[in-house]
Amino acid sequence: MMRDTSSDILIIGAGIIGLATAYQLKKLFPRFQVTVLEKEKMSGMHQSARNSGVIHSGIYYKPGSLKAKNCTEGRNALLEFCRDNEIQLKKLSKVIVAAQEKEIPFLLELEKRGHINGIQDLKRISKEELKEIEPHATGIQALWVPECYSIRFQDVVEKLSLHFKKMGGEIFFDQKVIAIRAKKDRVIVETPRTSHTATYLINCGGLFSDRIASLVLGKGQIPFQIIPFRGEYWELVESKKDLVKGLIYPVPDPKFPFLGVHLSRMIDGRVLAGPNAVLALAREGYKKSQFNLEDFFQYLCYPGFWKMVARYWDVGWQEVQRSLRKKAFVKQVQRLIPQVQEHDFIESFTGIRAQAVKKDGTMLDDFAIMQKHNTFHVLNAPSPAATSCLSIAKFICEHFSKRLFSEFESFDF
Ligand SMILES: Cc1cc2nc3c(=O)[nH]c(=O)nc-3n(C[C@H](O)[C@H](O)[C@H](O)COP(=O)(O)OP(=O)(O)OC[C@H]3O[C@@H](n4cnc5c(N)ncnc54)[C@H](O)[C@@H]3O)c2cc1C
Repeated sequence: MMRDTSSDILIIGAGIIGLATAYQLKKLFPRFQVTVLEKEKMSGMHQSARNSGVIHSGIYYKPGSLKAKNCTEGRNALLEFCRDNEIQLKKLSKVIVAAQEKEIPFLLELEKRGHINGIQDLKRISKEELKEIEPHATGIQALWVPECYSIRFQDVVEKLSLHFKKMGGEIFFDQKVIAIRAKKDRVIVETPRTSHTATYLINCGGLFSDRIASLVLGKGQIPFQIIPFRGEYWELVESKKDLVKGLIYPVPDPKFPFLGVHLSRMIDGRVLAGPNAVLALAREGYKKSQFNLEDFFQYLCYPGFWKMVARYWDVGWQEVQRSLRKKAFVKQVQRLIPQVQEHDFIESFTGIRAQAVKKDGTMLDDFAIMQKHNTFHVLNAPSPAATSCLSIAKFICEHFSKRLFSEFESFDF
């Protein structure tokens, strides 16, 4: 039977960010009662379980950005955590392939970013060298990152949760937060059946992080809104899996925070193609037909949504085509591996990205965390946030310690 609780720190959301934060906080402040509330029946059921499973190297991100800093640090911390906890990893090499001349300038920009972001052994390669690494891939030039890893991020979620509970932390499931009252010295969090009091609140609600934040900050007080983007995957049939040795990525469109449809060999040997990026009609609508009136109306009533549509309607329309027509999707993959055919793919799973969109219609490119009084809100944590989870958690802990032990200056970004 679920009970009301009283804690020092309450975390909403048992995804990889919520649990990494809970784990780091409990390690840092063992005497504090840290509690996690999760609306599902188990941890990590949403973004943290439905993704490409790649530990990113940090090549894509603008030097100096939070993504660049936290990806590099987070990757190292995650690899160490995996080694210490015997979490299975698969070492793979990655190529980012320019299919056309017009993609070369951004390929060179990525090379520059990669060097600044400290990626070791990064190399620009010719189309002949590409064939030696990925014999079936085609392009005019490519970047080669020899050391990348495939992982099942849910294994990390499980270990984080195990360590957190061993240290005395508590996770309560089936606890959907529906109301929050923030007082000067405490926060009262309500679920349909229980009430939880805490001195500090950390919101790691993923696809619902903006809605949870507005329960504290007030409607319209957040400078962006989460817009859900479906990422649909296809899988290569058994007989064609050998066409892909590691990770084959396109040069991404620099206007978007998404990496583009890629081919990735998973830890279990499957080869995925995806994800595309299509507007979802429900924040957790994994089936194409799923529709949620509240989710849908919320973005229809958001001016930033219409500005985003005006800005990117042409790319958005192509993504819809690729979602509805397998032929169009496969054509996209053929830019990387020309010999794949429609019948080589079977439908796989779907993930949904929580992408923050600003009021002017642009997609927020960097991670975003806001703090107000004794509440912290992780408001934009898309890819590579799973790779970066331990570093994002450390960042929250560092700012949190300042809040605990000294007068704290507000930081929003
Ligand atoms: C298609 C796709 C591919 C990706 N590929 C990669 C990759 O290869 N590498 C990488 O590093 N990253 C990748 N990412 C990004 C990565 O998966 C996410 O950044 C990361 O999982 C975010 O974790 P989270 O804890 O913030 O969110 P989630 O995992 O979504 O967790 C949020 C939790 O909050 C809970 N919650 C929400 N509302 C409430 C409420 N009201 N009350 C209680 N609980 C609530 C939810 O149930 C959920 O469990 C990918 C993401 C997607 C979607």
